[in-house]
Amino acid sequence: NSIIDVENLNLWYGESHALNEITLEIPEKQVTAIIGPSGCGKSTFLRTLNRMNDRIPNVRIEGSIVYDGINIYEGDIDVATLRKEVGMVFQKPNPFPKSIYENVAYGPRVHGVNDKTKLNEVVEESLKNAALWDEVKDRLDASAVDLSGGQQQRLCIARALAVEPKVLLMDEPASALDPVAMSKIEDLIYELKKNYTVVIVTHNMQEAARVSDYTAFFHLGELIEYSKTKKLFENP
Ligand code: ADP
Ligand code: ADP
Repeated sequence: NSIIDVENLNLWYGESHALNEITLEIPEKQVTAIIGPSGCGKSTFLRTLNRMNDRIPNVRIEGSIVYDGINIYEGDIDVATLRKEVGMVFQKPNPFPKSIYENVAYGPRVHGVNDKTKLNEVVEESLKNAALWDEVKDRLDASAVDLSGGQQQRLCIARALAVEPKVLLMDEPASALDPVAMSKIEDLIYELKKNYTVVIVTHNMQEAARVSDYTAFFHLGELIEYSKTKKLFENP
């Protein structure tokens, strides 16, 4: 059962052909890893999935990405709604310079949740789902930027979860962290697939092998191989 269908996707930065005829189906409530050498188009591909490329000048896209029955590159699609459903977490944790609470409450407020009791519930639930609640429940008013790097990244995950996305895109979410924080994020990713579809970019093969169900291997803008991770990494 796929949730995003990518068909014959091509992307150019000016004259440079960065994605070449990518076709793949992203399975629902599974973890799909995008791997490959630096510069092969992993981040570019990830950003096409919620139109994060829209901000970059001279980008040209052909082909289709169908999410929830709609080609997101065709017609009048509401990009804000798309990004609510298809959330993004970046390599470098980027919490707002505000309190822990405000970081998580921000998205739901933007999307119309104003009732204080409801907001508190969403904040608690999101922090629990990001495996951060126990560490911060007594200091929700503390500044987010005073948390450790690993905690900041889990906060960014909680912030993304707070608007109830269906898909979570993660661009090297653990690679800026120390090994302990990294393994916490990896454990969390494994938990997240119970409720969400996760697409994670990583240059770390071991990480892909540990966290993902499916692996897509990119090389020079092309999809070279796409299969179950177990199959890709099994010994010949
Ligand atoms: P990866 O994530 O695999 O390291 P990227 O998607 O970042 O690869 O980059 C793929 C190719 O596209 C690289 O050659 C990179 O230099 C180029 N590229 C990425 N972003 C831009 C941009 N904003 N403008 C022009 N070229 C870009
Ligand atoms: P990463 O390896 O973490 O993806 P990069 O250093 O490739 O980061 O890219 C950082 C930023 O620079 C991104 O926003 C990317 O789009 C942009 N970028 C990358 N390559 C190019 C390029 N050749 N020309 C213009 N912008 C680029």
